Amino acid sequence: MQSRVEQIVIIGTGGTIAGAAGSATDNVGYKAGQLSVASLVAAIPALQAEPLEAEQLAQLDSKDMDHPTWARLARRVQEHLDRPEVRGIVITHGTDTLEETAYLLQRVLAPRKPVVLTAAMRPATAIQADGPQNLLDAVAVVKADGAQGVVAVVAGQVLHGLELRKTHSYRLDAFDAGPDGGLLGVVEEGVLRRFREWPRGEALGASLLPEDAARWPWVEVLASHAGAQARALQAWHTAGVQGVVLACTGNGTVHEALSAPIQALRDAGVPVWRTTRCAQGRIVGAPEEKAAALSPWAARIELTLELLKRTH
Ligand code: ASP
Repeated sequence: MQSRVEQIVIIGTGGTIAGAAGSATDNVGYKAGQLSVASLVAAIPALQAEPLEAEQLAQLDSKDMDHPTWARLARRVQEHLDRPEVRGIVITHGTDTLEETAYLLQRVLAPRKPVVLTAAMRPATAIQADGPQNLLDAVAVVKADGAQGVVAVVAGQVLHGLELRKTHSYRLDAFDAGPDGGLLGVVEEGVLRRFREWPRGEALGASLLPEDAARWPWVEVLASHAGAQARALQAWHTAGVQGVVLACTGNGTVHEALSAPIQALRDAGVPVWRTTRCAQGRIVGAPEEKAAALSPWAARIELTLELLKRTH
């Protein structure tokens, strides 16, 4: 007997998982976002008996993800989550900005039901494509007891939506759990083995995200590095940047050449947040730094949300 809460919605946004190359042995010379999400589902025999709905929300290479698509995605996911018969959502996505979409969705939706992003490092046409297994595993996670929040499932690993990072440009297990995180679990032969608490928190609400690109604040990321110059920050300031995230060296240090333009921005009321550009660790000893433990990309979203809240 089937339970009432069982429907799984699979939302397609593009990415390599929907990518196609001219040759089955070409894992890199492909075009992302070519195949429909319905066809990705149809290609997996084990999914045919599942109560799935496939919906194409976008068809892009996730390097080109944009704010209006995020706004549409967040709203659509919320609409499906609000349906009592829906157990959870799978989102097929490119790997390049997957961690940004996951972070955003967890902060605005903080869902009690599972929202599982999945992806692939090889196109669907590859001789050994990783997308079908990842999609199958993502569905297994939605069906698992106690699954909740925004997570990602790639290469059998379940990663926290606020913590995961893409750490490899080519390997199939391209993601890790973030410097202070750990895997939420693993999927083995369709069975989820859980290790730790899944994402929870307070939802900011999808309506916070404007559908009009022009209503999103302009927030940039700038790295501090040897030979840094004041010019880029000064140009952004003149052009009206509304927030800046610094990818700082080490434990939150910045090149002295950046000190004056940073101060000028802060004096003008433009928030400048610090993160570390180190792959491991956080900014230690700076409890006032809101982004001390975030990647520059997650911090950019967090600052964007903060600015959106001010004008909402
Ligand atoms: N450029 C692709 C994307 O992010 C890469 C991938 O999906 O692996 O859409």
